[in-house]
Amino acid sequence: MPSTPTAPTYSNVRTRLAPSPTGPVHIGNIRTGIFNWLFARHNGGKFLLRIEDTDRERSTPEAVQTMLDAMDWMGLKPDEEPVYQSNNMARHLEVAEDLLARGLAFKSDFGKPELGEAIVFKMPEGAVTLNDHVKGAMTKQSKDMKDLVIVRGDGTPVFHLANVVDDIDMKVNWVIRGDDHVENTFRHIPLYQAIGAELPNYAHLPMITNPQGKPYSKRDGDAFIGEFKERGVLSDAMFNFLALLGWSPGDERELMTREEMAEAFDWDGVQSSPAQMDLKKLEWMNGEMLRDMPFDSYKEHCNDVLKQDDSPYLNKVLELMRPRVKLLAALPAQCAFFFGEEFPVDEKAERKKLHKEGMPESLAAYADVLSGSDQFEEPLDTVCQQRGLGKGKLMGALRIAVSGQGGGPDLFEVCRLLGKEKVIERIRRTVTEATKAAEAAAKYAGTEGADSSGTPADDG
Ligand code: GLU
Repeated sequence: MPSTPTAPTYSNVRTRLAPSPTGPVHIGNIRTGIFNWLFARHNGGKFLLRIEDTDRERSTPEAVQTMLDAMDWMGLKPDEEPVYQSNNMARHLEVAEDLLARGLAFKSDFGKPELGEAIVFKMPEGAVTLNDHVKGAMTKQSKDMKDLVIVRGDGTPVFHLANVVDDIDMKVNWVIRGDDHVENTFRHIPLYQAIGAELPNYAHLPMITNPQGKPYSKRDGDAFIGEFKERGVLSDAMFNFLALLGWSPGDERELMTREEMAEAFDWDGVQSSPAQMDLKKLEWMNGEMLRDMPFDSYKEHCNDVLKQDDSPYLNKVLELMRPRVKLLAALPAQCAFFFGEEFPVDEKAERKKLHKEGMPESLAAYADVLSGSDQFEEPLDTVCQQRGLGKGKLMGALRIAVSGQGGGPDLFEVCRLLGKEKVIERIRRTVTEATKAAEAAAKYAGTEGADSSGTPADDG
């Protein structure tokens, strides 16, 4: 149920994402983009994009494109043309010159004339207070902050200057970014004041951590947005998941659309403590979304990876798989057995369920009874009774034979879909292979035993 619409709290909101593209896009970057987008949407404001591409070596056109693609995939569409920071260098230097002219900055070569003269912003005396919408009020004494280089000796503007000047020029009035920028913000506030610009509102977002509480990195698993796309995570699930990393709507809802999230977004719901990454939750969300969508959309997503011809058979397979689907990229291996005789076999499950004394024989007996029957379950009951075998055990072996897997959708449904002929054929093949394997193992055990101790091997 959609909640009662809440009135926007702030007017004329302008937020922005200001990434420095250098390669694969970390999920933390996109999460920041999502919070900026949600806050702008909630308040009927604008969400902007500024590409901080001043590091010419690392911000290659490919890296910029990767960033744009990632945002596009997430549905983070900026409301105005993206701004490229590298185009604004003259403006950054003009502001630095003005600060120099007004005595608020000075030049220095730091005793190394060969490196040229840098322009340094004089940290004013006193204290700087940052009223953060997430973290509350924080104060830092100016004496604890060094004067700030804003233009390097080689004449290039430093991040702090470029970032502040561009935000002023883009009329950004909400700076929403990761809390690794808090220390920068303490330096940016006096810079705004020296330039004579109005301070933006600030919201610093909690970092994303691994279970040990350390910043989540690629060492902890997938950390780049492209990896999730490749694994078959839906854009909607990724967006929803990242939005809930540090924010909650304040009720029990977890599965939400972008619109519902924008509606509910406010700073009260944003936590200041670190947000722990939980990949299991993402998988769960993805599965839930695939189950909740119309069958045709679900089928389209599945067939993007399965690439099967459209048929009633495909529909039945996908219906059967639907309660179990999580990540789309896993689907081709998960249902390969529906589409051909080449399918992966879970060897551990095979050892446990099939390679057991008497089991291949029981399976073979089942195939015999099955060939004279028009259904799957009754012959299985018959064989189990005859051989004094638990039903679950024979079903486990049958599942290995028909699907190569230790678990999956309802076994008899699977058999009905495959058809009796194919089921019998797979059982026969499995039995032959299992018997061969058992013989080979016995032979090997025999030689081993003789070689090592001279006594025959014992199966125990
Ligand atoms: N380009 C910086 C970053 O990606 C700036 C962040 C910001 O001001 O939002 O960390």
